[in-house]
Amino acid sequence: MTLTSRNAIVTGSTSGIGLAIARAFAQQGANVMINGFGDAAAVEKERAGIEADFSVRCLYSPADMSKPVEIAAMVKEAETAFGSVDILVNNAGIQFVSPIEEFPVEKWDQILAINLSSAFHTIRAATPGMKARKWGRIINTASAHSLVASPFKAAYVAAKHGIAGLTKTVALELATHGVTVNCISPGYVWTPLVEKQIPDTMKARNMTKEQVINDVLLTAQPTKQFVTVEQVAALAVFLCSDAASQMTGANLSMDGGWTAA
Ligand code: NAD
Repeated sequence: MTLTSRNAIVTGSTSGIGLAIARAFAQQGANVMINGFGDAAAVEKERAGIEADFSVRCLYSPADMSKPVEIAAMVKEAETAFGSVDILVNNAGIQFVSPIEEFPVEKWDQILAINLSSAFHTIRAATPGMKARKWGRIINTASAHSLVASPFKAAYVAAKHGIAGLTKTVALELATHGVTVNCISPGYVWTPLVEKQIPDTMKARNMTKEQVINDVLLTAQPTKQFVTVEQVAALAVFLCSDAASQMTGANLSMDGGWTAA
């Protein structure tokens, strides 16, 4: 187990990629704070399941990643309960698909807040402790959309390009402090986030569900397969290992070849 005695926060981990990362960290011996929305009983089942399956501590924070005060309180709570936050994964994210002229202003603000600004707030809060202990791992879940664009995703693409820039900047600032900062850029991963955008994409592009899956989503990926949440989680675990101590400021694609094209 490579992460014994490490403590992690994974934002947006009640589902999808974040949940897989939290479980993978716990499997490697880390205590984890999970975060996100969802049915209270379902979230408690996931939390208790992590503790039971991997014999680690798992806490749940319902902090809303669009609210800076709640974000700061979440980091403080983890530091108090675990004694440190050694690993921070900024993963919470939402999507909204619409032509630019109809893009709701409140959706733009919400996506920028959750997908980008929340990482600024968590990093700002967790960095002093990492610097003091001379060890830390910050991983941001970016996207292929941090490197390339798709139409009708103005806010998401802007936020993801932003997180790639934030990753590089903070990596340089923390380079001599034993703290690495990287982002993972998955292509399409089959999660509720992808499933939920299908109806709007059908509308925006006048397509059937099958056309959206095959002609929009998987068309982007030369392998013609979805990435799995377990594959993304395995990369996150690697980034926390000693073998990855010289990887920092990187934007690591896992996109079936999408951004090679
Ligand atoms: P998901 O919908 O399964 O999970 C999103 C998580 O974020 C959930 O736990 C949800 O409760 C949480 N969340 C949403 N709003 C929140 C808020 N205001 N405060 C706290 N938590 C909040 O989606 P996913 O596909 O697992 O996405 C996770 C990350 O991966 C996102 O940043 C997304 O942009 C990124 N990503 C996903 C894909 C993909 O194809 N699924 C591809 C590239 C990048």
